[in-house]
Amino acid sequence: RIVTRFAPSPTGYLHIGGARTALFNWLYSKHTNGTMLLRIEDTDRERSTDAATAAILDGLSWLGLEWDGEPISQFERAPRHREVAEELVAKGEAYYCYTTPAELDAMREKAKAEGRPPRYDGRWRDRDPAEAPEGVRPVIRIKAPQEGETVVYDRVQGEVRFPNKDLDDFIILRSDGTPTYMHAVVVDDHDMGVTHIIRGDDHLTNAARQTVIYKAMGWDVPVMAHIPLIHGQDGAKLSKRHGALGVEAYRELGYLPAALQNYLARLGWSHGDDEVMSLENMIAWFDIDDVNKGAARFDFDKLTALNGIHMRAMGDEALADALIATQPFLPNGTLIEAAKTDHGRALLVQAMAGLKDRAKTLVELAEGAAFLFAQRPLALDEKARSLVSGPGFEMLRKGAEALRGVNANWSAASTEAAIRTVAAETGAKLGALAQPLRAALTGRSTSPGVFDVLAVLGRDESLARIDDCLA
Ligand code: GLU
Repeated sequence: RIVTRFAPSPTGYLHIGGARTALFNWLYSKHTNGTMLLRIEDTDRERSTDAATAAILDGLSWLGLEWDGEPISQFERAPRHREVAEELVAKGEAYYCYTTPAELDAMREKAKAEGRPPRYDGRWRDRDPAEAPEGVRPVIRIKAPQEGETVVYDRVQGEVRFPNKDLDDFIILRSDGTPTYMHAVVVDDHDMGVTHIIRGDDHLTNAARQTVIYKAMGWDVPVMAHIPLIHGQDGAKLSKRHGALGVEAYRELGYLPAALQNYLARLGWSHGDDEVMSLENMIAWFDIDDVNKGAARFDFDKLTALNGIHMRAMGDEALADALIATQPFLPNGTLIEAAKTDHGRALLVQAMAGLKDRAKTLVELAEGAAFLFAQRPLALDEKARSLVSGPGFEMLRKGAEALRGVNANWSAASTEAAIRTVAAETGAKLGALAQPLRAALTGRSTSPGVFDVLAVLGRDESLARIDDCLA
């Protein structure tokens, strides 16, 4: 049975790269009928916060990436990390090192003078601990192989070879008894039964050191898949300067989880020419072997276009509910409290067919829907105001007269017929009548089809809004 894991460090929000890593792990676990575990790598006590952990869990849930079982705290497993480090010493695969800070400084200085990267020189590797100086609390170092190569067999990167002369005897347990990150990851992945490690390729060199620890313990090395990082449009590694980094920012920008999932899945993985995919498709098709080696570029416009496609594919009720549920996260100006009532929701559902063609995000959808819930007299924007003045005012008056004649059978069709009759009688173009009507009804110069607007608002509200402009 396949076990994947997502192992974020809780030092900030769930960023978009982390979300994609989580998605790949999740998709692979679903594809193989396996499990995805969640490990919070909170060993760095200074930088880890509970708020960050909460933000990560919230981001994963919003994206629908539910993990199996309880999240595991790496920090809480410190005693186990120490136990394994001591076991490695007992097996002769690691050793206590009593090198003093002054000695380490000297080693660094020497490396600098010789123009090579600083490395620990292995001075306690074969020395008798009985010679340990007083008062120095030792660290534990692994006995790294000194000849040959360590090979990482990576499902994405291929066979990556690291000359062992470049791996020094790195620390696995600090002098205060806490594990190094390198060691904790290996012990945890082993104990959690992780079979597949899918993570960013910034961890590839760590994979070599981690392989050394696996081998020293005689443990099987999990399958590794190091996925290329996400870059911005300019080709540089994605950073704050490229805009929204945390997934919650995407919720606030009005993206649907389904669209973000779809977009992120396509960043670094592809299935033929398929651009638009449902979750079911992605689960059925996802495979590590189809992950690309090259860096992926994040393209906001593509994400936005994809979001529009996912929105239009949703049923009117589902989309209305998605909008209502997301409203608390959207910018203030787009809050439509009234949409939460039964009547408001019904209005929204009724208008949805006309609204969703004009919106690519939930923010745009909320803006488009605002007229439904606007209080009379409406505040007209500048364009709308000019549409109902001058010649527009006269057209609005004529339109209003015709609409007042429509009674019991008020609908998009009957109001359209009435306005067309006026157009025919006066020789005016349909648009010359429709534009001022739209402005009066919505306060804006763009909206769903004006006859749909009339139908959704109903006779009383429509005529009252028009009369406000004629007064
Ligand atoms: N905690 C590491 C990170 O957030 C991931 C470690 C791993 O996946 O092995 O980058």
